[in-house]
Amino acid sequence: MAIPEQQAGLPLRQIPSVDELLQEPVIQKLLEAHPRWTVIEAVRETLEERRQKILALLREGSEAFVPDLSPLIGQVCRKVLHLARPSLRRVINATGVILHTNLGRAPLSSEALARLQEVAQHYSTLEFDLPQGARGSRQGHVQGLLTRLTGAEGALAVNNNAAAVLLSINTLAEGREVVVSRGELIEIGDSFRIPDVMRKAGAVLREVGTTNRTRLKDYEGAIGERTALLLKVHPSNFRIVGFTSDVLLADLVALGRGRALPVMIDMGSGAIADLAPFGLKGEPTVQETLRSGVDLITFSGDKLLGGPQAGLIVGKKLMIERLRKNPLARAVRIDKLSLAALEATLRGYLEGERGLGAIPALAMITCPLHEIEERAERVRAGLQARAHPSVRVTVEDQWSEVGGGALPAQGLPTYCVALQRSAVSPHRLEALLRDADPAVVARIKGEKVLLDMRTVREDEVGLLISAVGPILAGELGS
Ligand SMILES: *Cc1c(COP(=O)(O)O)cnc(C)c1O
Repeated sequence: MAIPEQQAGLPLRQIPSVDELLQEPVIQKLLEAHPRWTVIEAVRETLEERRQKILALLREGSEAFVPDLSPLIGQVCRKVLHLARPSLRRVINATGVILHTNLGRAPLSSEALARLQEVAQHYSTLEFDLPQGARGSRQGHVQGLLTRLTGAEGALAVNNNAAAVLLSINTLAEGREVVVSRGELIEIGDSFRIPDVMRKAGAVLREVGTTNRTRLKDYEGAIGERTALLLKVHPSNFRIVGFTSDVLLADLVALGRGRALPVMIDMGSGAIADLAPFGLKGEPTVQETLRSGVDLITFSGDKLLGGPQAGLIVGKKLMIERLRKNPLARAVRIDKLSLAALEATLRGYLEGERGLGAIPALAMITCPLHEIEERAERVRAGLQARAHPSVRVTVEDQWSEVGGGALPAQGLPTYCVALQRSAVSPHRLEALLRDADPAVVARIKGEKVLLDMRTVREDEVGLLISAVGPILAGELGS
């Protein structure tokens, strides 16, 4: 029902104007500490919400009264703090998922960060050959490192692995057919689906086999005049178990050789370090995979490699040359900040154990269990000391995930700090943690909120306790 203006007018007229509110001493203080636009926007929003509330009350036929200014001012303060803080900001990852796509995947090493900062802040040799005083190659900064580490003839770095797959398929198979097993027509996240990428790359998908079983003769039968490429895709975020069969890459390579067709594999995570000694089995490294004779491999820079967002393509030199000449290569090229961080990350691999230990994602994967337990115990003690009597803080042994589509069926043993607060649901507690500063992202298991200590780094322990402590300490309103 519409409210006649005169009827609504009286309560509405009691709402202060933007200018009046701006004159309030508390708001004046806000203006000193925060950008003007945030204060104005907060005041406008607060007044508009109040106006809408009054109109809603009148519509219901209830009395609409305008309270004094203090709740309005409190609301403005909260809104200003919200508007003034960066949207893209740090969180503490207590989920235990090491390569969490929504939380930015791999954190960078200090060395990568230092290189990134130097290149970001200054002019650089990005495409400049200093000895020649002439134009140089952007790819030159990482190409040698990638070929040295993987044993490949050629290498190319692009914006991300999705771009690497798109560029490779477009270059090798535009207007022709690509043979892929039905068991590998995967979707990663909500936007990367192999059949869609294939279409956008201008190639025609030729599916073979069934979801759970594909044999070499299925590939053989699909090869025809229009075939341009045999493709294998790492199933990444799922496993098909039970009555299954899969074609070995080496057999597919032999088939490709016999028919003069290139063979490519999208490895997704693509580890260079062998993680089997740390309990992660069944994931061949990029260099092992390359030894099967496959022509091209694509993988991500920010999954098991532990570097910045990037797509890495390694393989036969002539094929890499063709990719480089594709006009799409420019559209998906790697930016200088990622390139700086990527070079530093790859150099870490050449340094052996010390260099590898400095890559945070690898350090988390390989962290000894007793260290995680000891960290959990410290966090438990720190939180217990601050907690309200209604809070139970315990340590539990649990499982962490690598994430990033790597090793989906395998967990890593871990220790979690479990939080339980009587009369407060785990969902509410988890939401309060997300609202902390810095935000803490946890997981819920049954009636408990778990803080997984595998992904909380040693230098974050103090910060975690100071962020979570106040949530466990006071009385909680409803
Ligand atoms: C993660 C993944 C991708 C996408 O890689 P981005 O670096 O996120 O673009 C493609 N293919 C596979 C198999 C993956 O696991």
